[in-house]
Amino acid sequence: MSMPKYAFFEGKIVPIDQAKVSVMNHALNYGTAAFGGVRAYWNDDEKQLFVFRPLDHFNRLKNSAKLLMIDLPYSAEQLRDILCELLRTEDFKENVYIRPLVYKSLNGIGVKLHEVPGDFTLWAFPFGNYITADNTNLKVGFSSWKRVSDNIIPARGKISGSYINSALIKTEAELNGFDEALVLNDDGHVSEASAANFFIMRHGKAITPPLNADILEGITRSTIITLLSEVMGIEVVERDIDRTEVYTADEAFLCGTGVQVAAITSVDHRAIGTGKMGPVVAKLRDTFFDMVKGKLPQYRHWLHAVYADEPVRA
Ligand code: PMP
Repeated sequence: MSMPKYAFFEGKIVPIDQAKVSVMNHALNYGTAAFGGVRAYWNDDEKQLFVFRPLDHFNRLKNSAKLLMIDLPYSAEQLRDILCELLRTEDFKENVYIRPLVYKSLNGIGVKLHEVPGDFTLWAFPFGNYITADNTNLKVGFSSWKRVSDNIIPARGKISGSYINSALIKTEAELNGFDEALVLNDDGHVSEASAANFFIMRHGKAITPPLNADILEGITRSTIITLLSEVMGIEVVERDIDRTEVYTADEAFLCGTGVQVAAITSVDHRAIGTGKMGPVVAKLRDTFFDMVKGKLPQYRHWLHAVYADEPVRA
């Protein structure tokens, strides 16, 4: 990972080595933080850096903050503007990954959420693929861990402490020789992967677990639903998926800010479809990567141009 030079920390942009919290920090001790993951894509033809759906990401972060009783003194628009200022300070002219974080900033003990102040920080760095395996050919297995459920740690928030669940899932998968894992929820239905949402293709329809299946409300997921239906004319159904339905799917894929769109070609050692990336996922990946770089005029409203500092409209 290449290191950022700056961070937004305690209300201003500072050199990264000044953005530090104490060992007494509440979030460090108890996981009482929530984060985001946002991407910005460099378009070399236009010499422009496009942040993908920043307001949607910051609104979700504000909702996660609400779950943790952290009062964020910034609107989503202000957070986007802070982000653009940081990206310009870094002078990035390549694809980057952005990490906003809200965290309990108290130095002291006491496991509770109320009466504990919070703060916001943000940093970004150049980044390629999150999954280092071939993103057109992922081998996936079902996890022995279950996905955190809403009444344990709210799954729809990107809450730092709950990523112990993701880390257990990811590590088990990799140590068992898989690239990623799929996770069942408490009801025994498929929820998602360790840090990505999940779709299958079956009988010509795209199927993805619903928002109440203990999934993170993925921004890429909602983007993909739009692209599948509007660009590719494929019906998308949001409903519970059984484990063995996945084995018999024609195609399967993961999506998220980190993984972008990645084809799954086997699950629990069973080939998905032909065992090679299928036509829907292949076309979807092309569409997605064109879209994030601003090449699909009808979706430029999802992009925010860093060096023009205004939403990009066709
Ligand atoms: N699920 C989990 C658990 C995640 O961490 C992520 C990555 N943020 C996703 C799904 C995908 O969400 P998004 O498309 O908003 O990045």
